[in-house]
Amino acid sequence: MIRKEIAAAKQLRQVMKDYYYELDDASNSINKKVAWCSSVGPAEILRSLDFKVFFPENHSAMLGSSRMATDLIPFANAIGYSPEICSYLTADIGAYLKNITPLTRAYPDIESVPKPDVLVFNTNQCREVQDWFGWYANEFNVPLVGISTPRTVGEVTNDHINFIAQQMEDLIESLGKISAITFDIKKLKEILSISRECSELWKKVLETAANEPSPITFFDGTIHMGPAVVLRGTQQAVDYYKVLLAELKERVKNHKAAVENERYRLYWEGMPIWGRLRHYSELFSSLNVCVVASTYCNSWIFTDFDEKEPFKSMAKAYIELFIVRSDEFKEKYLKKMIEFFKIDGIIFHDAKTCPHNTNSRYGMPQRLEKDIGIPNLIINGDLNDLRCLSDDQSRTSIEAFIEQLEES
Ligand code: SF4
Repeated sequence: MIRKEIAAAKQLRQVMKDYYYELDDASNSINKKVAWCSSVGPAEILRSLDFKVFFPENHSAMLGSSRMATDLIPFANAIGYSPEICSYLTADIGAYLKNITPLTRAYPDIESVPKPDVLVFNTNQCREVQDWFGWYANEFNVPLVGISTPRTVGEVTNDHINFIAQQMEDLIESLGKISAITFDIKKLKEILSISRECSELWKKVLETAANEPSPITFFDGTIHMGPAVVLRGTQQAVDYYKVLLAELKERVKNHKAAVENERYRLYWEGMPIWGRLRHYSELFSSLNVCVVASTYCNSWIFTDFDEKEPFKSMAKAYIELFIVRSDEFKEKYLKKMIEFFKIDGIIFHDAKTCPHNTNSRYGMPQRLEKDIGIPNLIINGDLNDLRCLSDDQSRTSIEAFIEQLEES
């Protein structure tokens, strides 16, 4: 089954190429500064101080999708990072130790990842980003700074927001010294406004999947989310999502389906399996099943950014993320998504090395099934370590799940 490529993908490839060449150029220039940032870290602050921003998680996802990750993980294990912990971390450190990067494969003039002048994390997603970046801070002998965010948050309170906003403001001084740029609140406000526009467009892109048939799949989303992750706060990302949204609206108008004869609509909860995107996309298409939406792709929507209250609104947006929240909040969120996207069943990906983005271990699928009758399937796998996944077993489980939907 051939995947229907979205025409905007050609422009996406150029946008991502330009982004990586710009980073490479900054890395080789004495006048420009590079910051490494966790994927839901304070990228807007970094851009306001003229840093070029590199996201190691995006790099590690590239290691996964190019199927380089599994072979590189043991090199990080050999220096003490367990095979049980985040395989973004282990694949990425393994790649660095072997002096390998998928960037060279994609962009032959790029020899290595850009060298950081500072590393900036936010523990809103997990503690692993702090450990991961700490290793590189040591390796490159550059500062490590970050934001500590409470986790399993139920209701987001003013105390939460003030606590994080203060940490964000405190970062300005140390980051300003590294960038040698005087912080300008006007610039931060402009970037926040652009970042919010990017989020609004990306949200609309994902919401086109509420149409029947859906013009886009979760697997498309994992590719097209690139600019929302690495270029939020830039005009390039905004321009790209305008083009993508127009194409998807056209598909909707013409009833052009992402999956021919869409019979069932599923929701993907958890990390993508980067080395098997094509495999799963084709498997579901062959069954006339569209995986229409996911928590993962929706995690880069920060529509709360508000130029009038830059720090507080950033603090709010970065703590209201699904991954930071209590199970009670997550279940309410999933119920809304199931209703909005007209979902027939949920796939929970139990990613062996990412407990933070795995929500099937404490009874959530069963509670949702009991409350709203939504059937579920749990797939055991991993984001990057393909040794944790059995293609045959998951295919059999998926086929059986679809048969179960047919019988219900
Ligand atoms: S959220 Fe999971 S996959 Fe992402 S960095 Fe943390 S442990 Fe790794």
